Amino acid sequence: MAELQNNIARLEEYLAPFREGMVSNLVNGEAIPAKSGATFETTSPVDDSVIATVAKGGAEDIDAAAKAAKDAFAEWRDFPLAERKKVLHRIADAIVDRAEEIAFCECWDTGQALRFMSKAALRGAENFRFFADRAPSARDGQSLPSPTLMNVTTRVPIGPVGVITPWNTPFMLSTWKIAPALAAGCTVVHKPAEFSPVTARILAEIALDAGLPAGVWNVVNGFGEDAGRALTEHPDIKAIAFVGESKTGSMIMKQGADTLKRVHFELGGKNPVVVFDDADLDRALDAAIFMIYSLNGERCTSSSRLLVQSSVAAEFKAKLIERVNNIKVGHPLDPATEVGPLIHKVHLDKVTSYFDIAKADGATIAAGGETTGDKGCFVKPTLFTDAKPDMRIAQEEIFGPVLTMIEFDTEEEALEIANGVEYGLTGYVWTNDLTRALRFTNKLEAGMIWVNSENVRHLPTPFGGVKASGIGRDGGDWSFEFYMEQKHVGFALGDHKIQRLGA
Ligand code: NAD
Repeated sequence: MAELQNNIARLEEYLAPFREGMVSNLVNGEAIPAKSGATFETTSPVDDSVIATVAKGGAEDIDAAAKAAKDAFAEWRDFPLAERKKVLHRIADAIVDRAEEIAFCECWDTGQALRFMSKAALRGAENFRFFADRAPSARDGQSLPSPTLMNVTTRVPIGPVGVITPWNTPFMLSTWKIAPALAAGCTVVHKPAEFSPVTARILAEIALDAGLPAGVWNVVNGFGEDAGRALTEHPDIKAIAFVGESKTGSMIMKQGADTLKRVHFELGGKNPVVVFDDADLDRALDAAIFMIYSLNGERCTSSSRLLVQSSVAAEFKAKLIERVNNIKVGHPLDPATEVGPLIHKVHLDKVTSYFDIAKADGATIAAGGETTGDKGCFVKPTLFTDAKPDMRIAQEEIFGPVLTMIEFDTEEEALEIANGVEYGLTGYVWTNDLTRALRFTNKLEAGMIWVNSENVRHLPTPFGGVKASGIGRDGGDWSFEFYMEQKHVGFALGDHKIQRLGA
């Protein structure tokens, strides 16, 4: 309790600059309000209180930011590579220095528990370090010689890019997108989620302090339908890296069509964790619980569908119910808290609407199934059992601490259920039969699969989904593939013959 009170007091120090002023836009190195003067309020899901006033950017702010990014592009593209690497490392250093401030503000703005946000802030620094080290070689291409031509490819940054991020773990996700863009030599206009603008602003300020030239990284706050839309339609913005809902991705693709935008989408998921009866059931239980109830279940890679082989389902379910009922729901700044409040009242209503849907469709609410606390957006960790694969709770992304358990008899049935949704982001398979693991993962429709493990993100590996879960991959060189263009140059060798016309 004393630790929580200390944390709340320190949070006030960190929020003071925003409370006295506002969460401004950052365009061409200047902290400015929206050109129209419009603002909106960001509130905390802990107690619904107003955190700060936020600049409500629109098309004219996006236009100014895109111009700044365009004007700064040549300088950043040609920035000495060793210096580019140093700037990105300085950003990482400053994130580490300010990690507590970032974690506290993120907890208060999003409701995520401190135990996870402390790590997420440091993970943001790692994202910058990883790409800082790769910045000097980002332009590397290939030599593809033929008998008459010395063919060389190089990669060049695509130009100013737009980055649009969601409200779940917004700090970490922003670093994930922006670090490789900068390492590639692109300039950036970032439109953070309207529900969680605070840490995006801190991050851009860190970058400016670290020596990033003005205009290289711009932030325009605002809503999807105006600031977001204007960014996707702007002719000077060459590509959009978007993380959010599948239906928003579809809208962005349409909006970007006229200007032929390159798009990279990380979208929704309804990810299966499949537990076979030969698995280490205790480890599978730990992982299944972690992957749906950590980060409030507001996580694209969460294992929101639990498929358990019927021979072990009763035993697994009994242990699961006990553990779910034991999860500590509380204030996100309390180090003991495991699940905090959901991001916003609107989202709370969406998540809780599935309690009635589950009952109406004939499933059982075996744990949770109600809100908790007299203020804020708190919900009890929830478990649906007796679910069938075609129920809405087994098909739709709920995006909260809500798990749907489905039983299966055979491997074929498990595969059919696992693949029987529109999404394909991640999958988790628990078995000690190596041949089964190979056979099952080979047919499982997902961009990322872990066997006998929870989600462990290793930065050089490709991250992304199939089906309605995304287009493109992040991580390692895959990020550079998106933010850069391949350029081919053929040098004629001496005996290369040129056809003569009219001779
Ligand atoms: P969202 O799609 O509602 O909003 C995301 C961002 O898009 C926000 O900044 C919003 O302002 C903006 N936006 C909305 N409409 C727009 C438009 N017409 N044009 C341009 N921008 C627009 O998503 P959300 O509710 O903030 O985030 C949750 C979703 O994100 C979930 O579906 C989750 O699965 C997904 N997600 C996916 C990944 C992944 O890696 N696949 C990671 C995190 C979150």
